Amino acid sequence: MELASRIEQVQPSLTLEITAKANAMKAAGKDVCSFSAGEPDFETPFHIREAAKAALDAGKTRYGPAAGEPKLREAIANKLQRDNGLSYTSDNVAVTNGGKQSLFNLIMAMIQPGDEVIIPSPYWVSYPEMVKLAEGTPVIIHTDASTGFRITPDQLRAAITPKTKLFVLNSPSNPTGMVYPPDEIRALAQVIVESDIWVVSDEIYEKILYDGAEHLSIGAVSPELLERTITSNGFAKAYAMTGWRVGYLAAPPAIIKAATSIQGHSTSNVCTFAQYGAIAALEESQDCVQEMLDAFTQRRKVILDGLNAIPGISCLAPNGAFYMFADISKTGMKSLDFCKDLLEEQYVAAIPGVAFGADDYIRLSYAASMERIETGLERMAKFVKSRI
Ligand code: PLP
Repeated sequence: MELASRIEQVQPSLTLEITAKANAMKAAGKDVCSFSAGEPDFETPFHIREAAKAALDAGKTRYGPAAGEPKLREAIANKLQRDNGLSYTSDNVAVTNGGKQSLFNLIMAMIQPGDEVIIPSPYWVSYPEMVKLAEGTPVIIHTDASTGFRITPDQLRAAITPKTKLFVLNSPSNPTGMVYPPDEIRALAQVIVESDIWVVSDEIYEKILYDGAEHLSIGAVSPELLERTITSNGFAKAYAMTGWRVGYLAAPPAIIKAATSIQGHSTSNVCTFAQYGAIAALEESQDCVQEMLDAFTQRRKVILDGLNAIPGISCLAPNGAFYMFADISKTGMKSLDFCKDLLEEQYVAAIPGVAFGADDYIRLSYAASMERIETGLERMAKFVKSRI
């Protein structure tokens, strides 16, 4: 059987693959320390679960509008105004099956063959693959530790061609955890306005910030910029709601209409009662977000110090998200071999940097208990010692 040519270029998600392998080893009784999943290890807060249960009992079990429950769209517009300084109404918002579908719908709605999409590397695994599925061309801007894995305005300017349609900004970043300071966001915004391109700002980690880092939504820089900004976000990371599959896209109404049309012919609405949980997440107390952040903050220190204490490994201090992006180049190993051997020999699961466009690095998610972090660090130290 001949498959569509568009699928031939697309790589399966390495993160999902390694996580599945680690889970299979766990199921077979192995004591695996898993740092692979990009998933908070907390339960979804009680009041959010209760709101979804109440919605279920109240009969919110039917098809709903493809763009989302009106009440949730309004709550999201209010949140974007309140937290991010973005002047939006419900017409600017579509509720999607996670932040992943929000980006997918957007790219399908906007990108056509020949369009270039600028993606800084290290990048979240799905960005280039989504662009390829839309038959567009990903244009990768490489960054390294010398600029804290952030692109400069000159790098952005140099990558723009007449074919450039969209620039993908992800701050705080998966996989590096780096956050663009407000001044750097403003400088990138200037290039975007001058060049007449669009920007999609993936802000799914906006609530997970450390050491006084500040998050500035690029759309808030100026009304002129807001007209060429799409904001993507979701409930998975801030509210530990990964399995609920609720995210959203915020953009000028014509884009929302197009993205909703794609959703209307693919998945239809997001699970109706899950949307009621999301309303509670936005409208009730935000203490749960702070509590999870406090736990991440403690773990971050332990894993950062622990990694940097392993001879042969070095790691910048990330000021957002819940990932460490560790340099393994001194071990002489490439990231896939490193991660495969580490999993097989020491039962420690990490993601090879090659999945994110950086083969000298591995990504460790510290959404794991302190005990697992400490055990995992000991095992990693043993593994690296056996290699150098
Ligand atoms: N964007 C980034 C940078 C991510 O890391 C993820 C998930 O890992 C997503 C978007 C999608 O999140 P979800 O679809 O679970 O809301």
